[in-house]
Amino acid sequence: MKVKRLTMPRATSGDGVAAAPASCYTGPAPLREVMFEQLDYLLAHNGKNCPSGCAECMRLKHVKFWLLEPFQGVI
Ligand SMILES: [Zn+2]
Repeated sequence: MKVKRLTMPRATSGDGVAAAPASCYTGPAPLREVMFEQLDYLLAHNGKNCPSGCAECMRLKHVKFWLLEPFQGVI
């Protein structure tokens, strides 16, 4: 998944003269940032406040399984 990062273009160049329009696209967000943002979102789905069969709770269950799979049997 790619997430666009946006910045606010500057209205002037600092001396009161309108600056050339700056590009608003600065590149994709770092993968680590995107992943932790997604995990934070999914972790709010712990089933306690969700309706039965919540799709995001199922996503959390799948993500949790795959993230912890390499450690199964290690501990
Ligand atoms: Zn949920």
